[in-house]
Amino acid sequence: MRKWILEIGIGFVPVLVLFLAFIGVNVFPLVAILILAGVMYAAIKMRGGITALVPQKNKRKIATSNKLTFDQIGGQESAKQELREALDFMVRHEEIKKFGIRPIKGILLTGPPGTGKTLLAKAAAQYTNSAFVASSGSEFVEMYIGVGASRIRELFREAKTRAAKENKESAVIFIDEIDVIGGKREGGQQREYDQTLNQLLTEMDGIYTSDSPRILLVAATNRKEMLDSALLRPGRFDRHIQVDLPDKKGRRHILELHAVNKPLSKDVSLDKVADESYGFSGAQLESVMNEAAIYAMRDELDEIKQGHLSLAIDKVMLGEKTDRESTEEEKRRVAIHELGHAIAAEAVSPGSVNQVALSPRGRALGYVRHNPQDEKYLYTKAYLEGQIIVALAGAAAEEIYYGGRSTGSSNDFEQALNIVHTMMTSGLTSLGIVNMDMVTTEVLMKENSTILENLATRSKQILLEYSEIFDHSLEILLREERLSGEQFRCQFGDRSNLPA
Ligand code: ATP
Repeated sequence: MRKWILEIGIGFVPVLVLFLAFIGVNVFPLVAILILAGVMYAAIKMRGGITALVPQKNKRKIATSNKLTFDQIGGQESAKQELREALDFMVRHEEIKKFGIRPIKGILLTGPPGTGKTLLAKAAAQYTNSAFVASSGSEFVEMYIGVGASRIRELFREAKTRAAKENKESAVIFIDEIDVIGGKREGGQQREYDQTLNQLLTEMDGIYTSDSPRILLVAATNRKEMLDSALLRPGRFDRHIQVDLPDKKGRRHILELHAVNKPLSKDVSLDKVADESYGFSGAQLESVMNEAAIYAMRDELDEIKQGHLSLAIDKVMLGEKTDRESTEEEKRRVAIHELGHAIAAEAVSPGSVNQVALSPRGRALGYVRHNPQDEKYLYTKAYLEGQIIVALAGAAAEEIYYGGRSTGSSNDFEQALNIVHTMMTSGLTSLGIVNMDMVTTEVLMKENSTILENLATRSKQILLEYSEIFDHSLEILLREERLSGEQFRCQFGDRSNLPA
């Protein structure tokens, strides 16, 4: 309909102009106005419509007041405890007023993505019986000066309105990705970001105990070191709570929470799943349960079996199986590469290989799945060197069999380099304890390559030592495309305890 009116308008205007010119009216000003209007319309359309020029009041996603309690968050016991303690100040506001204690204005949740920071903020709102308003740092980023700042004002206004509407005495404002607007101010170019941050600081300074409704700001980031010190100073975000990846107990708890609405077979062991999902975040664990349910449904079963959960872990860790058909030659190279990792892993840490597979998943053409190990928080030099040996063994195997490497080792090298970096920063190299900023790049490069060359040589030695097992395993792997840990290990016999 609108298009129709527009077309009639476009046809009518030139006729009108011609008619006016014909009867002797000076049409020049009218034509100039029309051209100007046309240019403005085109410019606005290019910038994403008229809405791009106006602060978008309702664009922000506002979390509905879903009731989420701390009990519905798995693991994170210490984070929950710390948060509850901080929130008690808000709950017992009369007492803190009596003692003249200033209110907590901001709580900063720091940790990797998907660990439950948003959930904690929602539970904080529930715990303090507050209205909840959620937003993300990226929503305040605008190319137009002043828009971000006005959105901050609007966010605070909205929190107050919401609290009044819901008849609550307090409101929790959650800002995810606070680093987007709260990054260190370096002057110059970033005027819009600075204005947004300044506005946030101003709003925070305007929070008082006697305010009604009381406002608490909860922010989340995984890059705390990037934040401007003004944000972190006492009286602003002065409570910092670390939200880490869950440990085994936490993982089990999260899995249990997400299994509540799913038909699990009686013999499923969530302990085993928790064991195998080392390093997974809460969001990844949720995804494991979800994917397992999808696999069970695809198999037209009524229950989720342990096998579905194992497949789901592989999927979350490595990506979906792909239909990519590799050539025989490519397949052989991948088998050699993966067996290199597997043999080195078994030699360095006997019993560690769970399976070697040739099926393409995500971007990988094959993979080695390791058995869960005890969770470690401290790593010795020998352990880290062992990990580098395993990472380099894929390329070492290709060199032994083909005389050269392929592009398939880039991730392995990245992993090896990261471990070397950790060793350097922990004083585990021949450089001793060093301030990394004071060592020249040449020295670092030299140490780096010495470590990697030595360990690559050890990798090769191990593979040559086990060449018989290698050849035999290669035959099975190429034939069956899969080699279980047990199948693989039984070839090692008593040799599996040989030191690397
Ligand atoms: P990001 O930093 O990426 O914003 P986040 O730390 O805020 O992530 P959430 O949004 O809270 O993570 O979590 C995402 C999803 O992962 C949740 O909706 C939930 O399903 C699941 N999840 C994450 N952590 C937990 C947990 N501790 N307990 C239960 N579920 C969790």
